[in-house]
Amino acid sequence: MNREKVATTTKILVTLVGAVGLTVIFTRVSSSQFDLGFLLILGFSVFIAPRMNIALPRSNNHLSFSDSVIFLTFLLYGGELAILAAFVEMFANCVYLKRRNIATSKLFLLFNSSQAAIATACTYGVYLLFVKLSGAVPNFSDTRQLATVLGLLALSQFLVSTIFAAVYQNIREGESVWKHWRSQGISSAFTQLAGAGIAGVVFKVINYWDVTLGIIATAVFAIAYVNYRRLITEINEAIGTVEEAERQKAETERARRREAERHAEQLSITLEKEERTNAALRRSEKDLQHSALYDSLTGLANRKQLNQMLAGMIRDYRNDPLTTFHVLFLDIRSFKNINDTLGHTIGDKVLAIAAKRFERLVNPFDLVARIGGDEFAIVLRNVSTAAKAAKVARRIYDSIRQPFSLNGHKISIDLNIGVAPCDVEYTTPEEILRDADIAMHHAKECNDGLAIFTTDLRSRFQERVRVEMDLRHAIDRDEMSMNYQPIISLTDGRLIGFEALLRWNHSEFGMIPPGKFISIAEQSGLILPITVWILKTTCHQLAEWRKIGREYENLIVSVNISGRHLSNNDLIADVENALAETGLPPHLLKLEITESSAMENANHTINVLNKLKSIGVQLSMDDFGTGYSSLSYLQKLPFDTLKIDRSFVNNVGPHGENSQILQTIISLAKNLRMRVIAEGIETESQLAVLKHLGCDYGQGYFLAKPKPKDTTERLLYSRREWFPNTITGEFERYDISKDNENIPVF
Ligand code: C2E
Ligand code: MG
Ligand code: MG
Repeated sequence: MNREKVATTTKILVTLVGAVGLTVIFTRVSSSQFDLGFLLILGFSVFIAPRMNIALPRSNNHLSFSDSVIFLTFLLYGGELAILAAFVEMFANCVYLKRRNIATSKLFLLFNSSQAAIATACTYGVYLLFVKLSGAVPNFSDTRQLATVLGLLALSQFLVSTIFAAVYQNIREGESVWKHWRSQGISSAFTQLAGAGIAGVVFKVINYWDVTLGIIATAVFAIAYVNYRRLITEINEAIGTVEEAERQKAETERARRREAERHAEQLSITLEKEERTNAALRRSEKDLQHSALYDSLTGLANRKQLNQMLAGMIRDYRNDPLTTFHVLFLDIRSFKNINDTLGHTIGDKVLAIAAKRFERLVNPFDLVARIGGDEFAIVLRNVSTAAKAAKVARRIYDSIRQPFSLNGHKISIDLNIGVAPCDVEYTTPEEILRDADIAMHHAKECNDGLAIFTTDLRSRFQERVRVEMDLRHAIDRDEMSMNYQPIISLTDGRLIGFEALLRWNHSEFGMIPPGKFISIAEQSGLILPITVWILKTTCHQLAEWRKIGREYENLIVSVNISGRHLSNNDLIADVENALAETGLPPHLLKLEITESSAMENANHTINVLNKLKSIGVQLSMDDFGTGYSSLSYLQKLPFDTLKIDRSFVNNVGPHGENSQILQTIISLAKNLRMRVIAEGIETESQLAVLKHLGCDYGQGYFLAKPKPKDTTERLLYSRREWFPNTITGEFERYDISKDNENIPVF
């Protein structure tokens, strides 16, 4: 059985005992005992006493008049009516509490009332025992005996009711009887004692009643009660305030503790986060350190690591010349084409494959690094001579070119390698890398794949860098000009037109020959803006010269177009612009394209030349015989003229020796329905042979040298004859000693 049930059973039992006890009392007392006085006491118990309860400070007990009522009834009407009064008083009290919303069940109401009646019955029993033991009924008019009886009643009532409450609490809550009695019961002793005292006083007043005493007693009692009640209320309020303050303090304390706990929790979360961040930071620091020294694509050392290694090796070599080393600068040839045609993903794979191959081809203690897009460097340690280093480089060069398959594409890597031996003059890694790079560029130019650095290469390189630098500003500085070399008809000596030849009069170095700067302009791309300028200048010039006389209306100007420009999409527009700007009829402009650049990408050339033809310009194949044209392409290329390279003309001796090739070329051109120009005619015999072979046009020092614009213009105005056989007096015979076209060596 659980506690609740036991407690309920106890309540029922106590109620039953109470009911039986009350029934017995009703049978024993006579109706005469219920006099006015008793009814007044009962009325007081029911209507006034519950309202006069005073809560005692810091305890569950109340100072009530219930005990006074019980003890007074006891003294005035005996124990049995006191039991009845106890029941009624408790019942009234509980009803009063219930009305004030203090939850009390009906059973509890009856149980409480019964338990009050039983406690009083026990007290009555104790009194009867006392009477029996003392052998005489006490005389209440004797104050001493009255006090003794009241003390006994109070003590008994106190013990019985508190023990009763402690036992019930034990049944209900399981709390120890002793503990409950000690904590709650003892403090109620005062209630009983006070009740007994009041009952004694009232009893005395009733028994020795006179009006004055009654008024005085009532007044004193009323004043005492009101004061006491006020005092107790004040004390309770003070205690309430203190308790409220304590409660608030405790609440604040609790809130502070909760805040501290929350703070501690947040702190630990923050610390955890920070720890995680630190770990990530350490990891990324490691990655950073690695990526700072290694190339992410190939896993090779990067330029930074290479520089660090080289710096150490240069130091070592300067201290000990036996610690030799060589630096190889490797550049993958035409890597851009792989990227452009096969895509960057394949391009990346090719680089990774190249890196693996390089590593396999050198000793483990050599260093392979990737230092740019398609540029690598290898440091060969302990290689004593440049020749040995070149041997290793050649081995790398040969092996790396072995073709391989990648995603269904057959790919072969081609290289240019520059070798730079260690030297005491080097103090920084950049210096030796620069020289290996210079050697690599030389290898590229010579198309040899491999070159060893020499100081001569460096000065050529520096000169070249200087030329390139100055070339950028040459037009702006008005250093560029055009020379015009006449092209003569070999059949009738007519002036057909001019070849425009670029001249650079450097402000510091004087005349620089085209052979020195044209290739640099081509490689740097500067040839494009320069050609745009040439096209405009020459077209404008010819448009002016045409105005001199009717015989010059059909003069043609030939402009050299470089291979770089041919492969550039802007060429067509550049030509059109020049024509549009100057108003020169298109058929009077002839573009010279060397055989080698025409053949570099023959299909593209056919395409571009056809477009140019559609504009109406003429086309001439320059330096014919040096570019290994295939006949099938030659047929498809829409050239108007073939210009025989001057080396073939030069070979013709004073008696017409070595003219067979000329003959072959001329008849080939005729078969292809093209006109033929011979350039580099230096002698009378060469001219005679060419005329004899049926060559259409001629150009050369023997006929006329390239001349600046003003000289050429003067010649045009003087309306001279251009063919030496017809006009003899003014004929300008070739005399090398008088050559004002001599170009100083740069
Ligand atoms: P090229 O187009 O074959 O020009 C003919 C070259 O032969 C010219 O040399 C001319 O002066 C030279 N020449 C003409 N007759 C004789 C002769 O009887 N004997 C000798 N020894 N030489 C003769 P130049 O002006 O030095 O030009 C050399 C090359 O430079 C040109 O060869 C051409 O490839 C290039 N070049 C010159 N001017 C230009 C230009 O404006 N644009 C481009 N892209 N290249 C140019
Ligand atoms: Mg030319
Ligand atoms: Mg030529």
